[in-house]
Amino acid sequence: MFLLTQKPPFASLLPSFEGDLYFNDSPEHTAQRILYSTDASVYQEMPIAVALPKSVADIKKLLRFAQQHELGLIPRAAGTSLAGQVVGSGIVVDISKYFGNILGINPNEQWVRVQPGVIRDDLNAFTKPHGLLFGPETSTASRAMIGGMIGNNSCGLHSIIWGTTRNHLLEVRAVLSDGAEVTFGSLTRQQFDAKCRGENVVSPLEQRLYVQFRDWLSKPDVQQHIREGYPKPTVTRRNTGYALDALVGFFVSANSEETFNFSHLIAGSEGTLCFITEAKLNLLPLPPKETALVCGHFSTIRQSLEANLVALMHGCSASELVDDYILQLTKTNIEQAKNRTFVEGDPKAILMVEFFDETAEGVSKKAADFVTALRQKELGYAYPILFDRDTQKPWALRKAGLSIMYNIPGVDKPANVIEDTAVDVHDLPDYIDELDRMAWEQHGLKLEYSAHAGAGEIHVLPLINLKSSEGRTKFRALLMDTAQLVKKYGGSLSGEHGDGRLRGECIAFMLGPENYQLCKDVKALWDPHNTFNPGKIVNTPPMNESLRSEADVVIPQPKTVFDFSADGGLLELAEKCSGSGDCRKTEISGGTMCPSYMATRREHDTTRARANILRHFYSKIEKPTQPDYEAVKDVLDLCLSCKACKAECPSSVDMTRMKAEFTQQQYRESGIPLRARLVGNFTKLMRLASLAPWIYNAIYDTPALRRLANRAVGFHPDRTMPELAGTTLRKWWWEQKKEENEQIGRENRNNYSPSSLTSSVEPQLGSVLIFADEFTNYNDVEVGKKAIQLIKRLGYAVTIPEHVESGRTYLSKGLVDDAREIAIRNVTLLKDLITDETPLIGLEPSAILTFRDEYPDLVPSELKADAQRIAKNVFLFEEWLAREADAGRINQRLFTMEAQLVNVHGHCHQKALSSMIPVKKALSLPINYTVQLIPSGCCGMAGSFGYETEHYDLSMQIGELVLFPAVRKAENAIISAAGTSCRHQIKDGTGRKAQHPAEILFDALA
Ligand SMILES: Cc1cc2nc3c(=O)[nH]c(=O)nc-3n(C[C@H](O)[C@H](O)[C@H](O)COP(=O)(O)OP(=O)(O)OC[C@H]3O[C@@H](n4cnc5c(N)ncnc54)[C@H](O)[C@@H]3O)c2cc1C
Ligand code: SF4
Ligand code: SF4
Repeated sequence: MFLLTQKPPFASLLPSFEGDLYFNDSPEHTAQRILYSTDASVYQEMPIAVALPKSVADIKKLLRFAQQHELGLIPRAAGTSLAGQVVGSGIVVDISKYFGNILGINPNEQWVRVQPGVIRDDLNAFTKPHGLLFGPETSTASRAMIGGMIGNNSCGLHSIIWGTTRNHLLEVRAVLSDGAEVTFGSLTRQQFDAKCRGENVVSPLEQRLYVQFRDWLSKPDVQQHIREGYPKPTVTRRNTGYALDALVGFFVSANSEETFNFSHLIAGSEGTLCFITEAKLNLLPLPPKETALVCGHFSTIRQSLEANLVALMHGCSASELVDDYILQLTKTNIEQAKNRTFVEGDPKAILMVEFFDETAEGVSKKAADFVTALRQKELGYAYPILFDRDTQKPWALRKAGLSIMYNIPGVDKPANVIEDTAVDVHDLPDYIDELDRMAWEQHGLKLEYSAHAGAGEIHVLPLINLKSSEGRTKFRALLMDTAQLVKKYGGSLSGEHGDGRLRGECIAFMLGPENYQLCKDVKALWDPHNTFNPGKIVNTPPMNESLRSEADVVIPQPKTVFDFSADGGLLELAEKCSGSGDCRKTEISGGTMCPSYMATRREHDTTRARANILRHFYSKIEKPTQPDYEAVKDVLDLCLSCKACKAECPSSVDMTRMKAEFTQQQYRESGIPLRARLVGNFTKLMRLASLAPWIYNAIYDTPALRRLANRAVGFHPDRTMPELAGTTLRKWWWEQKKEENEQIGRENRNNYSPSSLTSSVEPQLGSVLIFADEFTNYNDVEVGKKAIQLIKRLGYAVTIPEHVESGRTYLSKGLVDDAREIAIRNVTLLKDLITDETPLIGLEPSAILTFRDEYPDLVPSELKADAQRIAKNVFLFEEWLAREADAGRINQRLFTMEAQLVNVHGHCHQKALSSMIPVKKALSLPINYTVQLIPSGCCGMAGSFGYETEHYDLSMQIGELVLFPAVRKAENAIISAAGTSCRHQIKDGTGRKAQHPAEILFDALA
């Protein structure tokens, strides 16, 4: 709609603009605009500019500028909208960084006042100590923001009891199209009339809004159209068009006690009417403390929907569906595989039905009564009941449902198009039956089902290839046919996700032409210049235009070093990012992904941003230019290669691997920087330095020299360096072995008997190989020594086989070609030595886990099977120890009986590719040791990242989020950390010495 002959003069805004503005063609600005060209929908459009305002004055300036230059202004919060709400060609205005303050709470009156960039779960962490919560709960609650929740009138899992955002919106403060900042709250009839008379208004537009709505909604024919055109009153989720049905009641009966509140119209208006700057929200008391979750297993979807009606009769607080398709996908998803322990067999659907009660007996009885009713009606075949904390796993699995579907290989992908329909809950079984038939018989599409059965809304996803014209035709046809069906049932085409640019085209059909015209009039009244989020809800462009990728185009891809075939290719891996925004969760919600975002709170530093820029880069048909490379480099820069996304991103977007591959490609274009070479060649340098370790240590122990040396290689002057040990682990081990052999020889000579030969040296329990990784071999030799002595003492023979370094340092700097050579050497050297009976054990997680994670996809095809077999037989020290303990082979009496508190920080790669359960188990071998996991994400060091001058501050900020304060507080605990970088970071950040679990356990030997 905006045909610009000349770029607007954004630079003129800069002198007075307090926030951040990206508008030009530099790689940095271009990258920012690319990142904001999508949300969690299928759409993509390049915005002309991106703004992160710092104040309301900034918003007003942007508004004036947009109006002057006929640009759209697109308010954006976390950008998790599914219908393209925040995609457009105008200025995307991201309030998520600078509008995140909680402004005040009144626990007695149960309300809170917030800025629109406050995250829903963070808000509830704040209100919890007051015994209160903000009810509406999207599956994206760990990152969705109040502004976005208002924009979409979001609800979610507990909407049966807690309703929608509109239901809890007391007031909205917003900038109107005339530039006035106005508060919209609840008005009595007298107050409403006063506003119409122009009393207590801040601008003429505010008065006009009241007058015009009175004129429109007082008309009987308008009231009738709304009554007849909007969904049936029993459809509780209704987000189609503007919420005129929520306002009309005030005018229907002039004598009623009903109040008028424009904020109820703003809820669900998708940023098309005004720009929200504050909101006052109603809070609810926390739910009763006892919870039970019945996970009913069903053989058909219909059965589960009939059971849903029984659940509602039993007073459940939530009733949510997960179908077999999602359940299958959870089997191979790293994070969700841990959450599916409650699943029995292979059900077609599981209905998760939750009950609350004040007492444990009460809640058990509710759950049991429900199960009895299901059995009586012969609905379902298994009904595991979970209580309290145990309910977290099924809920996490259910919430990941929508996003996990993007993790499927192949060209057909889940498409959000009819995912948001809602009908009367009693109509649900018939409606879904009919929908399923229609999709298959008319479009050849199979549908997948999940989510809010209790509220009459099932998220329905077809698998469609939107990269083909045929797929796009189906995409449109399916929506149109579904609209017919939903209308037949008196339902709503959008229940909670909104219309955006996806469903806007159907509103005239769904609500009727008169109501649609009124919606258009509403837009024109509030926003006569069509500035606020144009092309959403009304006057939308065709729903199958501006999709993320071109149709029927084959894009040539560069050859990769890693084998990406399991994901379909490098581009396909980047495309797996659905935009769900899980990588925008904060340290308050927990987890590790994405550490740099947690510290900076910039979209630019999310996994999503990185996936978006790579998708854009690899989707280009033309050869990339230097600025293209620069733009990607800019966005990847703060990725710590922590691998958290591989596990925590529901689509398993593995940014560590993509970053390494891209960086290698970039080096081929522009050469390898010195620092990358030095870091990559860490092992070679250490080997050299270890010839005279005292020289190396003298330099790094002398602050002035250390600063100089650090500066010379691009490391931060304040960063200390790990000490170089006086000997290497391998050398020490050889000496030990030699001594042992001599000892045996002496014993044999003095006291020869056949039995004496075996008893002193033969392992009683088995043999293990130790991987003398580059860090343990040169720096953390004590860790290695203690580990070896401990393992021997536990009754196992230990060998350090011939091998080379792990290749981690090369991988971390994108030197994938070098890492590949190392992988080949290690696999070749070790393939005949590592067996089920003789596993390879590693002490440094980042090193040993390369065997598990990278090697199988790095080596040539002839070594792949060997690498895969090896991957199954390499273990972290703690994994191996826990396994042996589980098998009853570890004698706990060898450890001290003393009591000790151990607080554990997990290495990111360990959390992503293994688990912290074995660590806890291993450290609990001394029976009076109490082991607590620190809820820390990444420590911030991440190999060389935290050393690098430009990354040092961020590295420390990440450490300060959770880890450093927790370590400082744990004065009486031993701090445990398996990662060498983590231990170093803890030392630099807190002055405390953290220990490897092997050291702690060795010291705990009785
Ligand atoms: C995997 C997944 C699961 C989901 N599950 C649910 C669910 O269970 N329930 C549910 O309701 N939704 C769900 N959603 C949709 C989405 O997460 C919600 O709508 C969420 O509330 C949007 O919040 P946001 O902060 O991402 O907003 P955004 O997407 O950034 O914005 C949403 C709308 O609000 C407008 N807006 C934002 N800030 C302002 C402002 N300051 N002034 C004016 N307008 C503004 C935007 O213009 C836009 O139209 C899901 C999405 C995904 C990807
Ligand atoms: S990277 Fe993963 S978590 Fe982040 S938005 Fe994409 S799919 Fe979601
Ligand atoms: S590897 Fe870590 S830092 Fe990089 S994108 Fe993934 S979660 Fe973020």
